Amino acid sequence: MSKLVQGYEVVIGFETHAQLSTTSKIFSRAPTAFGAEANTQACAVDMALPGTLPVMNIGAVERAIEFGLAINAHIAERSIFARKNYFYPDLPKGYQISQFEIPVVQGGEVSFFLEAGKETVRKTVRLERAHLEEDAGKSLHEDFIGQSGIDLNRAGTPLLEIVTRPDMSSSEEAVAYAKELHKIVTWIGICDGNMQEGSFRCDANVSVRKPGEPLGTRREIKNLNSFKFMQQAIDYEVRWQIEEIEDGRAIQQATVLFDPETGETRAMRTKEDAADYRYFPDPDLPPLVVGRDWVERVKSEMAELPRVMAERFVKDYALPEYDATQLTQSKAVAAYFEATAKACGQPKLASNWIMGEVSRRLNANELSIEQSPVSAAQLAALIGRISDNTISNNAARQVFEGLWNKEGEVDAIIEAKGLKQMNDTGELEKIIDDVLAANPKNVEEFKAGNTKALNGLVGPIMKASKGKANPAQVNALLTKKLSA
Ligand code: ADP
Ligand code: MG
Repeated sequence: MSKLVQGYEVVIGFETHAQLSTTSKIFSRAPTAFGAEANTQACAVDMALPGTLPVMNIGAVERAIEFGLAINAHIAERSIFARKNYFYPDLPKGYQISQFEIPVVQGGEVSFFLEAGKETVRKTVRLERAHLEEDAGKSLHEDFIGQSGIDLNRAGTPLLEIVTRPDMSSSEEAVAYAKELHKIVTWIGICDGNMQEGSFRCDANVSVRKPGEPLGTRREIKNLNSFKFMQQAIDYEVRWQIEEIEDGRAIQQATVLFDPETGETRAMRTKEDAADYRYFPDPDLPPLVVGRDWVERVKSEMAELPRVMAERFVKDYALPEYDATQLTQSKAVAAYFEATAKACGQPKLASNWIMGEVSRRLNANELSIEQSPVSAAQLAALIGRISDNTISNNAARQVFEGLWNKEGEVDAIIEAKGLKQMNDTGELEKIIDDVLAANPKNVEEFKAGNTKALNGLVGPIMKASKGKANPAQVNALLTKKLSA
């Protein structure tokens, strides 16, 4: 069912490094805070001084468990830390401590909505695993005492590497997956999600194949740290691979980098296979044992998950699944919705307004919902005035505008702008009678069976009422009079 690009199917799998929000490192007590002066946050363990030993940070394990629970994965009762051996200047030990054969989080899935034309479809991406590992340091070239050097502040920062199956078939799906994953880790609070600072970085594995063929050779685009670049990089990579194949060249497995300046991907190195890393269990660390009671305790202490909250919104507020998912994009949006819905008693209207006018305004002004100039209580009051027929939908948009510009409270704005609907039937009937008298042709046509002639009458009536007539009421009265 996946859409083809020039006759090729696109296959994408993601590896995401989420930096865990512990205050100290995964195997030492050095702090993890971002942006400190080079090498002020690296202790003897992070610098790999002889005689030092790693000690597991329980907080990092607990966050991995929370993630596993959030995505319905299996939490391994016993997982193993391994040494991944490679030489790099920012890795003083000569190996990275990671998990290889037995990761702590196994399986699980992430699902989200995708726009498909006018429809929205639910897509589920299966996860392979999520494992704990340490980050490496950083080579600095210009901004380090005027010459190249190594900053080990980041060495030993806890990471959760989250690996999917090759389940995505377009850049849109890949970005939607990455956004959903970002939402989950920030919602449960295991990662601050700051992409600029590298707290959430994605590697996209991309291959193409003709339908029915086995999986093609993949290239891995490293360290995508914005959703925009992610989409651009994958689109470029897909076009590049197809062109190579069409020109008769085979794709070489490789690690590539995306250059936002040129919009191109460039090979960085040929890709190592697992065998190149000479993985073996780290003799310095015992197996990681996670008992059922620990998992149960973590579970009982976790806040309501987004998908659970979305299900509750469907059940308690009779919202469509799509609305419920949109409104649980962040805890703040969900809280704003619940406050509005409870205050006005009209959950579907609250949802429409939040997903519509409120989001549009916030996006246009690059504001978050916490910064919204219109409070949930004000939105609820506005919705209340629509449902008690005080104002029309059109007028409501003007009231919203007034709220946004801090012109006052709902009723005061309605008053000041003269937006009250005409609910006095006597006054309205007089307008209708005048319009009917002035438009005998429309009346005749309507009586002859042309129901469309009604529209020619509604317009002048609304105009005569200066837009204050209630359209539903106009229709009802008009129909009654004409069929009398
Ligand atoms: P490694 O750890 O060496 O990078 P994995 O086999 O663990 O390799 O796969 C890494 C990622 O690449 C996974 O997300 C997986 O789904 C994805 N992947 C594997 N094969 C392909 C392929 N042919 N095309 C696209 N993605 C792939
Ligand atoms: Mg990889």
